Amino acid sequence: MNLEPTTEDIAAGSPSNNGGATVKNNFPEQERLKEVGADGLKKWSIEKSEELYRIKGWGEPYFSINAAGHVTVSPQGDRGGSLDLYELVEALRQRNLGLPLLIRFSDILEDRIERLNACFAKAIARYSYRGVYRGVFPVKCNQQRHLIEDIVRFGQPYQFGLEAGSKPELMIALATLKTPGAPIICNGYKDKEYIETAMLAAKLGQRPIIVLEQIEEVNMAIQVSKELGIKPVLGVRAKLKSKGMGQWGNSTGDRAKFGLTIPEIIQAVDLFAASDMLESLQLLHFHIGSQISSIGVIKDAIREASQIYVELAKLGANMNYLDVGGGLAVDYDGSKTNFHASKNYNMQNYANDIVAEVKEACQEVDIPVPTLISESGRAIASHQSVLIFNILASSGVSTEIPEIGNEKQHLILRNLYDTYESIKTDNYQETYHDAIQFKEEAISLFNFGYLSLRERAKAEQLFWACCNKIAAITRQQEYVPDDLEDLDKIMASIYYVNLSVFQSAPDSWAISQLFPIMPIHRLNEEPIQRGTLADLTCDSDGKIDRFIDLLDVKKVLELHPLEPGKPYYLGMFLNGAYQEIMGNLHNLFGDTNAVHIKLSPNGYEIEHVVKGDTMTEVLGYVQYDSEDLVESIRQQTEQALKQERITLDESQHLLQNYERSLQGYTYLFP
Ligand SMILES: *Cc1c(COP(=O)(O)O)cnc(C)c1O
Repeated sequence: MNLEPTTEDIAAGSPSNNGGATVKNNFPEQERLKEVGADGLKKWSIEKSEELYRIKGWGEPYFSINAAGHVTVSPQGDRGGSLDLYELVEALRQRNLGLPLLIRFSDILEDRIERLNACFAKAIARYSYRGVYRGVFPVKCNQQRHLIEDIVRFGQPYQFGLEAGSKPELMIALATLKTPGAPIICNGYKDKEYIETAMLAAKLGQRPIIVLEQIEEVNMAIQVSKELGIKPVLGVRAKLKSKGMGQWGNSTGDRAKFGLTIPEIIQAVDLFAASDMLESLQLLHFHIGSQISSIGVIKDAIREASQIYVELAKLGANMNYLDVGGGLAVDYDGSKTNFHASKNYNMQNYANDIVAEVKEACQEVDIPVPTLISESGRAIASHQSVLIFNILASSGVSTEIPEIGNEKQHLILRNLYDTYESIKTDNYQETYHDAIQFKEEAISLFNFGYLSLRERAKAEQLFWACCNKIAAITRQQEYVPDDLEDLDKIMASIYYVNLSVFQSAPDSWAISQLFPIMPIHRLNEEPIQRGTLADLTCDSDGKIDRFIDLLDVKKVLELHPLEPGKPYYLGMFLNGAYQEIMGNLHNLFGDTNAVHIKLSPNGYEIEHVVKGDTMTEVLGYVQYDSEDLVESIRQQTEQALKQERITLDESQHLLQNYERSLQGYTYLFP
């Protein structure tokens, strides 16, 4: 089969693009700007920021940088207006929406849905596929009501449905999806009540398709169907041999948690045949894992599943649907590779391969092609939300050079100082090792009582000054020897962020997932610091020290020095899938504030504000009643007043703060 890959996902809903995808150059960095300022130094430019943070790689067509050095958002992709993200954040803060703040762009969500459907429509036209595509959104990816309601609304023109993976998600899907003809895929472990509810919902005009994952469920479905006298539409989930890779790679194979093995599928077919229900068996489903970064893996799975589909039809099942599950990946680092944070294909390639493979398999044995269903979650929901957070403080090594020079200084300080002075482009590696050795000697001398605390402080300062000077040289070099590679990491400042990684980016902590993170302003200014991020929790895992890079992963992020009295905002992008619901209350940091923004003819409109948790709410989750808490403090102040340990003013001050805190946000005020 000859599948010519196209370079870009096609622009959604733009008919002019139907003839062929636009090819965009995502790597213009080869042509670095060579402007030189009056001081002889290369000037920083927004183009350099673009290249550094790889925003075109992961952000196109939604995120870019404007002339003011701010990140801009084009929520309708290349078809509509754009918003200055920094100005938006400032405006939202004036409306009393504190940071961290999750901003959802409903237009991006709409654009993703249109794009996915347009890609399948294009593939179907291209291969003259005589069937249709009906996507569904897996609710588990982001269950927030406003988001699900938006998806249902934006999906109406395409009869886009929902996928439920549990009983509570089924409750959401059944009550929310009202698009005629849109499927509700009923996955997950089921009891009798689940199956009954799904079957009965068909009487409401819904299109539930119950996907059986275990033999017990097959028996239950047959029994419930008989009891209710309903002929349901049923499917089976197959455990494929084709394996996903990376983080989520073990959703398949014989030992996988979900699905029926091939012998079990045969058993199910026989059970249906014996109950005269082969007519109900209409769908084959598989899901080989999320974030499948390699198109080869997807092709293998589709090929295997297409054959199973064809064979089921041959066995007499009334096959109508092939559900390819999720897995359509997001390019978090913009490298277009099969690295786990990326993908080596685009949405159009994905649709083309599915359509072409299925068509070929069906054509060979002359059976009608199925309605294609995909359950893309990550690819639909990731781009629409941006998490904005501020930096509270930074701490770095001081690179100031201490006073030195009079004879009385300890020899070790003299040596370190001379090393510092002698650092040049042609000896930086050697001087680096000298500096390390002298610093270690200084610490030994201190431990044996030969160096005072003040002297040790000077020695450490001199060492960092050496490192700083050497690092400045290495940054200009094309090749840096291995032993100096970690210099940036050693020198990195810690930026303290007003955020809980456990609440807002749990996958970054739990499975080392990478999300693009960058400042949303000052991008016309060189980010001369290197930093890692430390969050508000008292947990040493509450940090981010892995960042996207073209090659592999960066251990430090380029950041700007903080300016006194001015806020410094960072954005974490592409985190709209899975992070919200998996976030936890570590240290009792609650849900963040969230706003839904929609483009309007004269700017934007705030569709919804979802206030983050208050302290009273998070304390309630762990069974504290805030009135009891206040009462306890009140009694303690009464006692202290009686014993004259506190003044009336002080006690009022304390109580007011305590009560105000309980009603307030769990994060810090900048
Ligand atoms: C999680 C899941 C999905 C969504 O996968 P994505 O990679 O986010 O698209 C789809 N189907 C099933 C059965 C799932 O468990």
